[in-house]
Amino acid sequence: REYYVGVDLGGTKMLAALISGDGSIIAKEELPTLAQQGEAAVLDRLGSLIEGLLAAVPGGRSVLRGIGVATAGTLDTANGVVTFAANLGWRDVAVAAVLSDRFACAVRLENDATAAAVGEWLAGAGEGAPDCIFVTISTGIGGGIISGGRVIAGTNHNAGELGHISIDGNGPLCPCGNVGCLELYASGTAIGRRGAEQVRRGGAGALARLAGGDPNRVDARLVAAAAAEGDAEASGILREAGRSLGIGLVSILHLLNPQVVILGGGASHIGEPLLGPMREIIEERCLPSIRKPVRFVTSALGSAAGAVGAALLMSQSR
Ligand code: BGC
Ligand code: ZN
Repeated sequence: REYYVGVDLGGTKMLAALISGDGSIIAKEELPTLAQQGEAAVLDRLGSLIEGLLAAVPGGRSVLRGIGVATAGTLDTANGVVTFAANLGWRDVAVAAVLSDRFACAVRLENDATAAAVGEWLAGAGEGAPDCIFVTISTGIGGGIISGGRVIAGTNHNAGELGHISIDGNGPLCPCGNVGCLELYASGTAIGRRGAEQVRRGGAGALARLAGGDPNRVDARLVAAAAAEGDAEASGILREAGRSLGIGLVSILHLLNPQVVILGGGASHIGEPLLGPMREIIEERCLPSIRKPVRFVTSALGSAAGAVGAALLMSQSR
């Protein structure tokens, strides 16, 4: 049998999965990324994670046909280099060379959200719909576009950077250099940051209690938990983030006229308190003939979507 390894290397965690040629997951493992330790340490730990997976199959390394790596940021896919990943603090990191030296196999890089779009499209919530977009709401906001039954890669494989579409030309500065980027308002990081501000200002609701008064303990998950306990300010944060997401999506829908929008990433699990306000904005502001055919679904592959998609892309490029 032939196996592929798919990896999703994110700002917060790295996930590696052993995947058979048809896209099914044989085994998967994850570790924290700990990007602050530097790129060499991160890639070394990723290598060990992959070795652990291979140790579990008969034949080990000899049945490995290739490694697909999904990672946040802009890439030089031809040379296997991550050119700029704000969430990892990386510039020009030669990921493919490091892994192909260690495992003596082909390595293919893909943007995390584009890989997840492919995984969901072929083996998850996209059900093979020819026009589907994937939006990840995580450390940042990312996008992957399938249009007319094809992956839209762009001239150098960086299409679909939906998180850096500006929704306010006078907004705050994003690490990418643009201002008012969607991910500054609606990513998991943005939700957590707003929650931390609330606690720092001495807010007295459920969020402050759940965080034990410590703003550093606030993340998107805690904001969602506080909202579920009736913290009105926390609900307001989710509502505002959801509305921002809606404003961004209105433009994306007008541009691409998709049939399916798949929402993934850690913060998508917040569900209605975030996605309800998003849909409200879309109802209000989208051209009816563009809005009507769209189905909004949540990711079926969850945190493994990027790894599955990266492995499928690797297997198809052979
Ligand atoms: C990056 C994207 C990535 C997204 C989600 C953004 O900040 O620019 O490449 O897909 O975060 O990880
Ligand atoms: Zn940006």
